[in-house]
Amino acid sequence: MKTEIIAVGTELLLGQITNTNARYLSEKLAERGIDVYWHTVVGDNPQRVAETFSIALNRADLIIFSGGLGPTMDDLTKETVADVLGLTLEKDEAWEKELEEIFARLERKMTDNNYKQALIPSGARLLINNHGTAPGIWLEHGGKIVVLLPGPPRELMPMFTDQVLQLLPKKNGVILSRVLKITGIGESAMEERIADLLANQTNPTIAPLAKHAEVHLRLTAKAVTRGEALNLLDTTELSVLKRLGEVVFARDEETMADKLASLLVKRNMTIAVAESCTGGLLAHLLTNVSGSSTYFLQGQVVYSNRSKTELLGVPSELIEKHGAVSEEVARSMAENLRIRSHSDLAVAITGVAGPTGGTAEKPVGLVFMAIATAEGIFCSKFNFIGNRETIKERAAMAALNMLRLYLLKVNSFKLC
Ligand code: ATP
Repeated sequence: MKTEIIAVGTELLLGQITNTNARYLSEKLAERGIDVYWHTVVGDNPQRVAETFSIALNRADLIIFSGGLGPTMDDLTKETVADVLGLTLEKDEAWEKELEEIFARLERKMTDNNYKQALIPSGARLLINNHGTAPGIWLEHGGKIVVLLPGPPRELMPMFTDQVLQLLPKKNGVILSRVLKITGIGESAMEERIADLLANQTNPTIAPLAKHAEVHLRLTAKAVTRGEALNLLDTTELSVLKRLGEVVFARDEETMADKLASLLVKRNMTIAVAESCTGGLLAHLLTNVSGSSTYFLQGQVVYSNRSKTELLGVPSELIEKHGAVSEEVARSMAENLRIRSHSDLAVAITGVAGPTGGTAEKPVGLVFMAIATAEGIFCSKFNFIGNRETIKERAAMAALNMLRLYLLKVNSFKLC
């Protein structure tokens, strides 16, 4: 069943609100195995809504409108849909009574505009709105299904799940997606390693998406049952893991910090962090995980040279000799922090976030990290590209990844 979602609203076109309704509807339809082929957005203009609807009638079997059902002048979806299909609007007595009761309870007078909300196209079925005054509409016409839903998400979502999903034809199978999260490898290098899968795989499909500090691979499987779709996803995930190995750090909603949390808890280890260029971002990410107090002991933002010496005991001669952005200083920060915080692992980050402050020898994006452990201190040097914000993000993510790899015992970092 080819589906088109038409969101009506000039606010959407002006960029004042995001079309979250289309996202929500698509997600729910995918779970039911219904293919959504088009998302269309059109302003509150009767002629353009009519044009959009006519195009949709030519190509889709199921057309779902969101918005434009309210009582005001610019709410014209219902009128335009009826007009295009050559249907008249008829009063729904039951809903009119319901509206009168709502207004009486609110001690407000019903206007003609409010009465307009009790009109539905002839032959249509009314969908009850438990959270507002605009009812939804279900219409079957010329072999097509047309559904009209109110714009506010708190009205649209329950109406869709409680009523529309019950009315939609069953036996469409399911479409399930799974996201594999990858870090420590660029998008093109990753694509090269899974080139054959990307080229030949049609079910599940595999789609890469580059984020700031990670790359996501979305696997989407279509099958008759949920179990079959899950099997397809499992098999493809395994093929991807075989090629990409430990650069895949998590799945779906799980974050790098979540992953690290479970590793630290499993190993019963504590952690402390000392940050210069990331300004506390690493501590923020680590403490975003509920329950992080069991392993996160402390975070210090030692931005100035003086604080590195005063708070962590990094020798000022070391900073003078090598500069604050150096492996030696990162190493000393981590080593001293581990002793002072009594943590199992201490991480230090120092680098140039830019855009100013870079030199030929130490350019913007150069970041040194060190992890002090019971086995010694591991150091690593990174050259990140991006603006100040993305360099900070990439550095914090790389530190988390370095810790993850150390805990997984696949670390390839050198002892320093
Ligand atoms: P109302 O009865 O409130 O007038 P309506 O069906 O006429 O509802 P609109 O007037 O188009 O809906 O939109 C009302 C509000 O609903 C918008 O201001 C916005 O907050 C939200 N909304 C509308 N369309 C969308 C959408 N596609 N995605 C997310 N939110 C939306």
